[in-house]
Amino acid sequence: MADITKDVVIVGAGPAGLGAALYSARDRYDTVVLDKFVPGGQINLTDRIENYPGIAQISGPDMVTALQQQVETFGAQIKINSEVTALTRRDDGTLIVQTDDDTYLAKVVILTPGSDYRHLGVPGEEEFRQAGSGVSYCGTCDAPFFKDKDVIAVGGGNVAVEDALHLGKYCKKVTLVHRRQEFRATKVLVEELIEETKKGVIEIRYDSVLTSINGSDHVESATLKNVKSEQTEDLPCDGVFIFVGMIPNTAFLKGSVDLNESGFIKCDPAYLRTNLPGVFVAGDCRTGAAMQLATAIGDGVATAMYMKEYLRDPQWWNKDRCPEALGW
Ligand SMILES: Cc1cc2nc3c(=O)[nH]c(=O)nc-3n(C[C@H](O)[C@H](O)[C@H](O)COP(=O)(O)OP(=O)(O)OC[C@H]3O[C@@H](n4cnc5c(N)ncnc54)[C@H](O)[C@@H]3O)c2cc1C
Repeated sequence: MADITKDVVIVGAGPAGLGAALYSARDRYDTVVLDKFVPGGQINLTDRIENYPGIAQISGPDMVTALQQQVETFGAQIKINSEVTALTRRDDGTLIVQTDDDTYLAKVVILTPGSDYRHLGVPGEEEFRQAGSGVSYCGTCDAPFFKDKDVIAVGGGNVAVEDALHLGKYCKKVTLVHRRQEFRATKVLVEELIEETKKGVIEIRYDSVLTSINGSDHVESATLKNVKSEQTEDLPCDGVFIFVGMIPNTAFLKGSVDLNESGFIKCDPAYLRTNLPGVFVAGDCRTGAAMQLATAIGDGVATAMYMKEYLRDPQWWNKDRCPEALGW
């Protein structure tokens, strides 16, 4: 167990963390990025990215390799298998970041631990989760890959309804499976959805759940069950989109930074400051995140720019705050 002093500690080597590290290291701050696994985060799981501005198509792993090399060229250290378990702040302003092996002392901490998609936990979900096999958790990312195909979407919140509408622009047929009669999504979105069903592309299956995803090497059908009649049906489809929420990886921060009721890290939207001076947040783990590669990288870059304001003058921390956006 060693004490290691750094200017900047970044928690998570996903796109947000690597974006922050690039700017921080290039500005000659002594920077370490800690990741509990390997660099890259969620984007490692896809073999086709088509919505990163300026790059027509690239695989997730290729994108991560390029980012990692660029970050390391400027001297940032990336430490794998280093799970952060705690964060505290001393009265003198030093931030203490704890892993199982080491204690890091830092002037600035940038939190980028990301979020995981909530899974349904049904047979076939893990098997077909690999990119291209037919199970997806992001309509914005993957809808174009299902052009003129039949897909099933699952969920009843805002993301489910918005993404079902988005899928309707590409797919031949979208069957939205919802376990209740009423949607949790906002009224205006539900009205739009109902209106769209009249065109025949989107169909809603109320009071229904998806119980398994079936196929040989890719998705061929899904089994639906009506929770009232208990009747089951095997519906042929080319893909299944699961929109049942996100789980932010923030359990280790409980009690040290303010989280919202779902566990997302609260922040000031203009400067991505948390409630703890010197601690910024970027990417999919923060309130208001757009959950995209480009926005996660953009967030990371923004925090590395704003941290310089704090390092120049710690009083900046409370300047121009926007308390209503934080819910404080
Ligand atoms: C299959 C798939 C396909 C996608 N396709 C696209 C696409 O085409 N276009 C697009 O824009 N977006 C896409 N996305 C979304 C995109 O990947 C995410 O928005 C982006 O990765 C978020 O970046 P992040 O850095 O905030 O978080 P993450 O990518 O989740 O990275 C967080 C990192 O933090 C690490 N970590 C977590 N907790 C700790 C801890 N306690 N200590 C240390 N490390 C920790 C994790 O191991 C991880 O490496 C896709 C996502 C998936 C899953």
